[in-house]
Amino acid sequence: MNAKIRLYVEHPLGQGQSLTLDKAQAHYLFGVMRLAVGAAILVFNGRDGEWRADVTEAGKRGGVLRCVAQTKPLQMPPDLWLLFAPIKKARTDFIVEKATEMGAARILPVMTAFTNAGRIQRDRLQAHAVEAAEQCGGTYVPEVADAVKLDRLLESWDSERKIMFCDEALAGGTACLPDITAAVGPWAILIGPEGGFSDKERARLHGLDFAHPVTLGPRILRADTAAVAAMTLWQDRLGDWA
Ligand code: SAH
Repeated sequence: MNAKIRLYVEHPLGQGQSLTLDKAQAHYLFGVMRLAVGAAILVFNGRDGEWRADVTEAGKRGGVLRCVAQTKPLQMPPDLWLLFAPIKKARTDFIVEKATEMGAARILPVMTAFTNAGRIQRDRLQAHAVEAAEQCGGTYVPEVADAVKLDRLLESWDSERKIMFCDEALAGGTACLPDITAAVGPWAILIGPEGGFSDKERARLHGLDFAHPVTLGPRILRADTAAVAAMTLWQDRLGDWA
């Protein structure tokens, strides 16, 4: 049977393991997708790979699945974090969705001097990451962290983790990407807000050994475009695409 629906669940997964569905999951599988007992779907929890699971009980408010066979092992993304300044709601959602598809291990909203977005709803963004993982075939879901001030984050930064600092002030200048090609190890990409980085932030970042300023070409990209472009570049040079 061709199991196409992929569902993220919290339960541990393993041979013969039964999973109790909550109301929302039951509504989706049996109300919206019209599955019945005996149907097969794919489940993953971000830890135990992907499993084929059969529906053994289907109800309006709940149901039960049983894991039959593992269909994919857990595939971890590279150790790449995405640091981005939240922008308008729909564009922030887009960044989280794309970062998940592109293979970010962790997504961190950072508040910079010119960040003008209001409070972010971490849970909503996390749900977007789950949805993106469900549809892109991923077996891992990146954690969306609570928003943190860029200054504070840099104060406690582990200098082993290099930062690919996307600096719009370098637009059109010489690409610095060759600098990072030899540098394996943990990385983070930093994308600024619509207003860009302040002079103070830029000066600070240029002074940090672990921060590598890069240009994303001669045109100024919107933050959401910049996030996808930067992750593409990084994946191509250092990531798990090859
Ligand atoms: N308002 C700013 C642009 C901000 S673009 C200005 O006009 O200068 C939002 C973010 O995307 C930037 O902070 C940067 O991190 C990234 N970005 C966009 N275009 C870029 C480029 N050509 N090179 C490097 N980073 C870029």
